Amino acid sequence: MLPESSRSIASRISEDVARFLDVRLWSVRPDTMVECAPPAWVRAAAPGATFRGPPPIAAGDRFHVVACLEQAARRGRAEAIVRAEESGEDLLIVALDVRPTEDALVVLAGPDAAAGRTVEPVGLDSATELLDSVGLLERLRALPIERDAAIFLARVEGLSDVVRTSVEAGDVVAALADRFRARLAERGWWARIDVDTFALLVTEDLDELDGSFLADRIAELVRQPIAYGDRALEFTAAIGWSVGRGRRFPTALLYDAGVALAEASRHGVGRTVAYSERLRERITRRSTLRHDLPSALARDELFLDFQPIHDLHDLTPIGAEALMRWQHPDYGLLRPADFIPLAEESGVIADLGWWLADQAVRALVALRGAFAPASEFTVAINVSGRQLNDDRLVRDLDRVIELHRIDPSSIVVELTETALMAGDQGIETLLRVADLGCRIAVDDFGAGFASLDYLSRLPVDSVKLHPSFVHRIDEPRVTRLVAAVLVLCRQLGVGVVAEGIESSRQLKRLRELGVGYGQGYLLGRPVALDGLIGEEAAAGVSRPRSGPAVLVP
Ligand code: C2E
Ligand code: MG
Ligand code: MG
Repeated sequence: MLPESSRSIASRISEDVARFLDVRLWSVRPDTMVECAPPAWVRAAAPGATFRGPPPIAAGDRFHVVACLEQAARRGRAEAIVRAEESGEDLLIVALDVRPTEDALVVLAGPDAAAGRTVEPVGLDSATELLDSVGLLERLRALPIERDAAIFLARVEGLSDVVRTSVEAGDVVAALADRFRARLAERGWWARIDVDTFALLVTEDLDELDGSFLADRIAELVRQPIAYGDRALEFTAAIGWSVGRGRRFPTALLYDAGVALAEASRHGVGRTVAYSERLRERITRRSTLRHDLPSALARDELFLDFQPIHDLHDLTPIGAEALMRWQHPDYGLLRPADFIPLAEESGVIADLGWWLADQAVRALVALRGAFAPASEFTVAINVSGRQLNDDRLVRDLDRVIELHRIDPSSIVVELTETALMAGDQGIETLLRVADLGCRIAVDDFGAGFASLDYLSRLPVDSVKLHPSFVHRIDEPRVTRLVAAVLVLCRQLGVGVVAEGIESSRQLKRLRELGVGYGQGYLLGRPVALDGLIGEEAAAGVSRPRSGPAVLVP
């Protein structure tokens, strides 16, 4: 039976339209089977659903009330569709008034109802007969106002490639849809909201544990192989889910699940991520930064700190490394880890190449004036793998060398091992950098994909030992490893710089082992140029806008 409130609404509407002849009044839950029985009364398969008035379509048939009823509910007078179970035919109902009540839809169909026209279904995905995104949202909107709901989004990795490249892909998608329908339909409604993305709308109160259990079950369903010709295809899914008051903020719930899905996808295959406020904040921050980054340079918010590199024999500074910082108007001082990956993803990093090289070389000129003997002093810039994909880096370096008339060997280009894995194009670019006369250093040596390939193919000038080796230098295995690296590098004529020296004990051990150069908080923290050589000498190099900015580790 319908709740009382629904009944009274139904009867009020019924009175309102009593002057119409041949008015049909339905009161059904969405997605129920409505059985039409002659002459005037109709039983609904789902408990609580009722039907009054003459049957709108052929008597005795069963009809599936599809999502567009709810869409119609939003528009008031609208067209709605029911689907005949036997024939699969969609029939158009022209409704005078469609109103959602507490847990049902009241549909008043006018005299021209049941016109029997076959129409394109709205709110349904034609390939799978699951809801589509419109249908999913309509379903959410039709929920009682206080009802909790959860949306699970599963992006099936690689499915869009199959769909794009194969004519039989429809079978694969249909097989997945059938599997979802067969296994988890009792938990809610399934939808396909993108080529490779399915959604499950659950209209019950889920706690964290239920949620992750369900997410795991969906992941497991996706993982089961699907027969495809004489092969079996195996997929994995990234899953994001969100729980909330569905009816009140339907699009927000879907959006939140999308946020969680994006996070799951970012972290690689097979991840499930639940939406949370913290996640939202992180993602909002990331997207704000990504949005602000291209204009940060024009707004004068980027600047470089410099950290000295010392000769460990006599502790004289022999160079400095330029480390980028961003003084963001809302988020304050940002470390490279906060924005360099975004600059790499969006490609903005390549636009910063000229500025970085120019600023670093301006600083070098100032540093050379301040440190004696100055002629050997170098400046190191960090370069991302992404910058090796075209010739801009080479052009920028060439221009900057020309402009400031400096010896190219005083510029050190630092690359991590991961960046060096950029492939042949990357090697090609670096060979051109070396041809210019610049030096090449391998950053964070030993912490990435330590391939010896690049040491054989590139004229590497130095390697920078990752801080983890320096911090564990007292462990016998680490000591032996560092000693072995020194032998290897000596054979190749490659210098070794120890990074992250924080204690005099570490310094002592590194010197005993024969490590030539070092960098770390013990010897000098990264600071703005004027902090290193005084304001006057640093004129012409960008400075932090709000005074010296020393990042606290
Ligand atoms: P990196 O090139 O290995 O730079 C050394 C990092 O270690 C710097 O962090 C520095 O502040 C920190 N460091 C130095 N001495 C110590 C120490 O004694 N102890 C500890 N715990 N840390 C120390 P920062 O400035 O946060 O930079 C992080 C990374 O960001 C850099 O690592 C570099 O890979 C990247 N990066 C910085 N500037 C740029 C840039 O202009 N372009 C690109 N592509 N990457 C940059
Ligand atoms: Mg570096
Ligand atoms: Mg490093």
